[in-house]
Amino acid sequence: MSIIRPSTSIREPESAFPRIVCLVVSQFSLPSDYTDWEIDYYLRFEDWIPDKSGHVIFVIANKDPSAVVPLLQQIRRHPDFCTALCYVTGSVNPEIEQLADGGLPEAAILRERFGHFQELLTSFNESETAILPTGRLIKYLWLRPHFVVKPCHAWQSSRYWFYPLLNALNPDDDAFDWLRALVNQRVIESVDLIDRQRECPHCRSSHLSFIDVCPNCGSLDIAQQASLHCFTCGHVDVQDNFLQGGALVCPKCLTQLRHIGSDFDRPIENHGCHACHHVFVESDVQVRCMHCGKSSQPTDLVEHKIQSLRLSDRGRIIAVRGDTFDIAASFDQLQFIPGELFKHDLDWLLILARRYSMINFSLFGIYFPQLPELAEKIGHVRLMQLLEVFAQRLRSMLRTPDLSTRTAENMLWLLLPQTDEKGLRGFHARIKASLGDIMKDSDHQLDYQLIGINSAQINEQEDAQLLMARLYAEVK
Ligand SMILES: [Zn+2]
Ligand SMILES: [Zn+2]
Ligand SMILES: [Zn+2]
Repeated sequence: MSIIRPSTSIREPESAFPRIVCLVVSQFSLPSDYTDWEIDYYLRFEDWIPDKSGHVIFVIANKDPSAVVPLLQQIRRHPDFCTALCYVTGSVNPEIEQLADGGLPEAAILRERFGHFQELLTSFNESETAILPTGRLIKYLWLRPHFVVKPCHAWQSSRYWFYPLLNALNPDDDAFDWLRALVNQRVIESVDLIDRQRECPHCRSSHLSFIDVCPNCGSLDIAQQASLHCFTCGHVDVQDNFLQGGALVCPKCLTQLRHIGSDFDRPIENHGCHACHHVFVESDVQVRCMHCGKSSQPTDLVEHKIQSLRLSDRGRIIAVRGDTFDIAASFDQLQFIPGELFKHDLDWLLILARRYSMINFSLFGIYFPQLPELAEKIGHVRLMQLLEVFAQRLRSMLRTPDLSTRTAENMLWLLLPQTDEKGLRGFHARIKASLGDIMKDSDHQLDYQLIGINSAQINEQEDAQLLMARLYAEVK
């Protein structure tokens, strides 16, 4: 590995320039366009003595991915340098892609990237949260705005899927448990669903073996077999037992069977058990875990959704504000319902309103742009007070059947049943007046955008999702 610093000739303050720590296998030097950077070469990560005062870019010059990954993990576990830029000179596989910033670019491009990185680093609010794994992850993602946390898979892994970045940043916790907590805290949000796998209910391994067994005695020793069904006595048995001297004779009632369809037919029970001689239509399925060896029923398996994820709005607010203070906590008194439930109810009202003319409702959105910026300017406590006063007034305006939710930190939605266009205009005016009142007593402007729509104005084609997305785009 090596450390590079750009030359002193094009200077800003010394501290702004990174040194390159280049981890190498043997004799190696970076391309000639890097000659004016400050580069330190090391054979082992442990040989490098970190200097917290300067910026470091890591370069790993090793063509063997199985050697590169452990080096990247060491870097990502380092308390002070876990979010540093890291490049590799060899090929980039999916796991390396999750832990490094890609292949080493030309020096001019790296200089530019480092500039952007510095800007983001400056706006990151370094606080005690960055000491904790969640804080480190937020920082890592904040510094890489387009980064998507993706799972990789390996057959050696008992759960098949794993998240290289989460494992590296937080080796002490189970990545899937941590991930669930991060999603619950709304620090990260889903991008894509990658897989929906079934896992052992005992150990959560996904290495499962499915075996067909006899539904009567549970034996493995079953086989598909041709069977016949005698119409005279109703006997069902394997075909071989009906064959007597080349003719078909029922082994039970001894009737000679001539015509399929009138004397006999093929039953749907075409499986037979060699242990208990039971004939059956469908076998049972037993699941055996290849990891812990326990058996279970297919219905007992745990479904696990594997997703790719990115930093959420809330995660970005924490990155800038430096704590887990939740602006939206000011709105808690509004008793939000989950967004999915809100959409479900809105869809239901849309269906009702389209069918029955006496059903009428309105949807109202309140958007606060730049809440994090305002928090910076006037302080969290003052902002929280402002929002709390607003929430109080809003609450007094809502009726019992009105529903509220938020789809982003700063986007509130209200669903107002039996509110026609006139009622909506009145509601809009009252909200506006209320916000005006609050602002009168404040030295600072709380920016807001209001949007409302009545069911009579909603396009036939729109469902809750589309409607809310369209209105959100209008206020945003
Ligand atoms: Zn018979
Ligand atoms: Zn059996
Ligand atoms: Zn298991």
